[in-house]
Amino acid sequence: MIRISIALLDHQEQLPNMFENLSEDLRKALNEAGYIKPTRVQEVVIPELMNGKSVIVQAKTGSGKTAAYVIPILERNSTALILSPTRELATQILDEIKKLGKYKQIDVSLIIGGMSYDDQRQSKIVVGTPGRLLDLWSKGKIDFSGYDFVIVDEADRMLDMGFIDDIRMILNHCNAKIAGFFSATIPDEIMTLAEEFSKDLREIVLDEYKPVEEVKQKFVKVRNDWNDKVSKLLEEINGEKILVFARTRDRARKLYYLLKGKGVNVGLLSGDMPQSVRLKNFYGFKKGKYNVLVATDLASRGIDIIDVNKVINFDIPRDVETYIHRVGRTGRMGRVGQAITFYTFREADMIKRINNLLAI
Ligand code: ADP
Ligand code: MG
Repeated sequence: MIRISIALLDHQEQLPNMFENLSEDLRKALNEAGYIKPTRVQEVVIPELMNGKSVIVQAKTGSGKTAAYVIPILERNSTALILSPTRELATQILDEIKKLGKYKQIDVSLIIGGMSYDDQRQSKIVVGTPGRLLDLWSKGKIDFSGYDFVIVDEADRMLDMGFIDDIRMILNHCNAKIAGFFSATIPDEIMTLAEEFSKDLREIVLDEYKPVEEVKQKFVKVRNDWNDKVSKLLEEINGEKILVFARTRDRARKLYYLLKGKGVNVGLLSGDMPQSVRLKNFYGFKKGKYNVLVATDLASRGIDIIDVNKVINFDIPRDVETYIHRVGRTGRMGRVGQAITFYTFREADMIKRINNLLAI
């Protein structure tokens, strides 16, 4: 396997802007999206995929991985099966495809759970979650073979959510020539799966596994688990766009009602809500209808809300990885963000672990 570490490339060197070699319709859409030049990951990944090579890409959240595969798919006018761990992320991938494919004839469908089966048909580009895809496949309604590309987005998240067997099943019935595995971290199981599926794989590593540098991180010790946290949280709410993470659905809901009762303009994103409500609240926050969104870890990965000013960990994340993903919601694409983590004295150990990682 060929390993390319982008950190080793000289970014100062003026590479020609590869967007300029793309077809007119794609260039126009990129321009409208404000994508003037490729991000570092796009610079390396797009040529590989354009040349028909398979890739496994490790790059931090916010580095522009979606367009790194969407651009080659659109430019080659290819068919593609794109796998996403969550419905929200699948919807965002669909949005990116529509945005960049604005001036092309695109035939794309979204195949996710929690929605009616009506529009969930086979199309040239399919974006879907593993459960619903397998459901339709077992009913004979879709076929995984015949796609040019297969993409596994947020591969580490797939593993965390227990989708690895589902993904393997889909890949086993898929004969795509070009595969792309995209992830913030590459656990061994994912590497094994990628190598099983594609013989000629390029491993592309963007940089070491750390939160985006632009995020200012603060850890606040609280006296007790609920009341002190609530009062400290209220002090932080100031009209900026704030994403608040709670440990469980119940805590998220309780916090949501409490903030609402205090007149805060707040939305809720939690796994026990119907899909339609989840999407409505997510877009409500994204578009500025709410300035505070209380979420469970469902929302911590893959969701792109570019102008979050602050992430507040009302409850500490269960592990260091989750911390990085939550914090990756802010400070995206060079914007300055702030992450605040509340912890009780019992939780000081986890804070130490996070700080050790930050010190690397
Ligand atoms: P990742 O999947 O690596 O977390 P995304 O694909 O979600 O990253 O992209 C992060 C943000 O960067 C999105 O808001 C996206 O619109 C933006 N973006 C992607 N590529 C470019 C580019 N070339 N120029 C400017 N912004 C970009
Ligand atoms: Mg992504």
